[in-house]
This record gives sequence, C-alpha cells and structure tokens, in this order.
Amino acid sequence: MGTVPPIHTTRTGIACALCHTPTTELVYPVLSAQSPFPQREDVQDRWCPAGCRQLYPVQWKEAMPLLPGDDA
Ligand SMILES: [Zn+2]
Repeated sequence: MGTVPPIHTTRTGIACALCHTPTTELVYPVLSAQSPFPQREDVQDRWCPAGCRQLYPVQWKEAMPLLPGDDA
C-alpha cells in the first residue's frame, strides 16, 4: 500500500509566553486520501530558542498550549 510517512518541518510558531521570542514548532502535515494537499498541520513539538522550556519547565507548561507528548 506504500503510505509515505509525513515529512515533518519546522516553522516559526507562536510567541514564547515567558520571553516573547517566537518559538520554533515541529509540524507534520496531515494528509487525506481525497486530496494531494495537506489538510492541516499538527504541531508535535515546540520550543523556545532562548531555552525557556528547559529553564522554566513548570512555567512553560502552565503558559503554553499542551502538545501531544505532554502529560494532561
Ligand atoms: Zn522563551
């Protein structure tokens, strides 16, 4: 059947809630069988270039939207 795995890309995302630097987001296009074009993009990961996620994990988690890998 040969499904091609989605290619992830990175892009500039929402601003970091802690230092207001634009974050980098890791996104995967969501494909459909009906269209050759991605239907939407799922954000799989997000980090701040200034390192806020590592430096202030508690504040980061409270201030930023949850990601698939986060605990609810
Ligand atoms: Zn930051």
